[in-house]
Order: sequence, then structure tokens, then C-alpha cells
Amino acid sequence: MILIDGKEISNQIKSEIANEVRKLREDSGRSPHLAAILVGNDPASETYVFNKEKACKEVGMSSSIYKMPSDITEEKLIETINFINKDEEIDGLIVQLPIPKHISVNKVIESINPRKDVDGFHPVNIGKMVLGQASYLPATPFGISMLLQRSNIVTEGKHCVIVGRSNIVGTPMSILMSRNHSLANATVTLCHSKTQHLTEICSSADILIAAIGKCEMITADYVKKGATVIDVGMHRVADASKKSGFRLKGDVKFDEVAPLCEYITPVPGGVGPMTIVGLIMNTLKSFKHDIYE
Ligand code: NDP
Repeated sequence: MILIDGKEISNQIKSEIANEVRKLREDSGRSPHLAAILVGNDPASETYVFNKEKACKEVGMSSSIYKMPSDITEEKLIETINFINKDEEIDGLIVQLPIPKHISVNKVIESINPRKDVDGFHPVNIGKMVLGQASYLPATPFGISMLLQRSNIVTEGKHCVIVGRSNIVGTPMSILMSRNHSLANATVTLCHSKTQHLTEICSSADILIAAIGKCEMITADYVKKGATVIDVGMHRVADASKKSGFRLKGDVKFDEVAPLCEYITPVPGGVGPMTIVGLIMNTLKSFKHDIYE
């Protein structure tokens, strides 16, 4: 079994990005800038935004956080997005999800300028991705693709089973893996909560990607010997021995599944750090006008 070290791979990519950012700053006099809007006080969201800001610092990018109260109106939030859309010194804009229920997620995402939509959630970017055109790829699927690529895992002709069809992880992942290019070309099965014979389907996967949001649901029964297992799940489980009071677990029951695998990602230290790399990579692309003129 080979452990895919997302932390190590993300550090390698971050150092490559840092070199590029240094050169770009020398040439242009400014660094790529990521803005994040954080609505409310959800501790997990605060941690994610803090980690994104930290990653920007590590690679020499600028960042700013716009904190909004949880009772902010949809109108006011969209006003702030429009303001950032127009700021020429800001290359990437994300709104940390989830946002409070009284605000329409679709309206918020659609109000982000697709050129700055470095989360890759805007319908224009999703549409371009589906058509195989250059676009900002959603950060988690982008990060997973880089993990597979840097670990030299063959995807072409393989059966890839993805469990979970959310707009931010499972669905875009299924599109990316099925595209006709050398880093994909897999045969994809996308499963969800109504899928019948889930164990059987998963245990036929060469590459199994779990993005379910159910702690340790994927047990040994779901995994074929020699498979690659990518665990996207992230769950805080109470642990009094930790300073934080919790530890992280995934959607995969690691101890039971790992001995069966050729490759597997751990939680933490697998997909999580790569998601942030996907985001800063997109911010760099925005700065360089790689996707849009
Ligand atoms: P969602 O809750 O949006 O989607 C979960 C998906 O899993 C749905 O499609 C749902 O099906 C499916 N599902 C739920 N229960 C079952 C079941 N028993 N059998 C089969 N399918 C099931 O989750 P996200 O995609 O946003 O996130 C998934 C996990 O990944 C979470 O733990 C989240 O914290 C983590 N995550 C981690 C990231 C990282 O950087 N590491 C980034 C983003 C998410 P249906 O559509 O039918 O409801």
C-alpha cells in the first residue's frame, strides 16, 4: 500500500507557485490577490478561510477577508461582490460556503464575475469545463486530479467510481475523470444516496473517490484489492486528547481499507491540502489571464 501524501505534494506545488509569483511580482510590481467573503461565525468555515489566507502568504500572494454578519441581506452581500468584481487589484474572489439559508447560493455564485470565480462554481466555468474548454476547475476536483497525476496513477481506461454528486465535488469530479485527455479518460460511474447495489459497484472500481459526507461509511466490503482510494470526507470527531478537542476522520474507514489498496489518501493530509492548492493555482491563472483575456 502506498500512502498518497497530499501534504508533501501540496508543498511541492506551493513552492513551484511561490517561484512563479516571485517572478511575476518582479515583472509587474504586484502579486496575485485572493479575496474571501466569510458570512457568519461557523468555526469550520473560519478555519477554512484562515487556511486559505495562510496558503496565500506562503506563496507570496496577497489576500483579504471580508467578514459579514450572519444576518446580512442578500442584496448587501451581492453589493460587496459587485464591489470586489470591479476592483482591478483583486484577481480571485470566493464566497465561503455554506452561507445562511435566507440567501440564495445560486444568486450569490452567479453574481461573481466568472473571470474572478477561482472556486470554479459559476455556471459559465462549469459549462466550459463540461465542454472541455479552459476554465477554472472547482478546487477539490482540481486538487484530486493533481494528486493522481503527481502520484503517477494511471486513469486511462480505468473504472472510476465516485460516491457523492454534489455540485462542488462529486459532479465536477465525474466530468473531469471522463474527459478525453491523458489525465482522465476513465470510465466513470457516479453514485448517490439512491444508488442500488452500491457495495457491488464500488468494489468494481479501480479508482474509488468517496465524497459522501458520512464518516467512515466506506469499509473493506466496498473496495477491490489493488484499488486506488481517494477520501474527500472531512469529519470532526470529539477527541479529548487533542488540544483542539477533535480529530479529523474521512468517509473511508482507513485502518480496514488501507491494507487492500495500492494507493490511498489519508485524512487529514490527503485531499484537504490539495483543495487549497487548486484555489491558489486558479488565482495565479486569473492573474496571468490564462483562462480569460
Ligand atoms: P454533500 O452533502 O453536498 O453531498 C453528499 C453526496 O453524497 C450527495 O450526492 C448524496 O447523495 C451522497 N450520499 C449521501 N449519503 C449517501 C449514501 N448513504 N450512499 C451514497 N451516497 C450518499 O457533500 P459535499 O460533496 O459537499 O462533501 C462531501 C464530503 O467531503 C464532506 O465530508 C465534506 O466535508 C468533504 N469535503 C472536503 C473537502 C476537502 O477539501 N477535503 C472539500 C469539500 C468537501 P444525494 O445527492 O442523493 O443526496
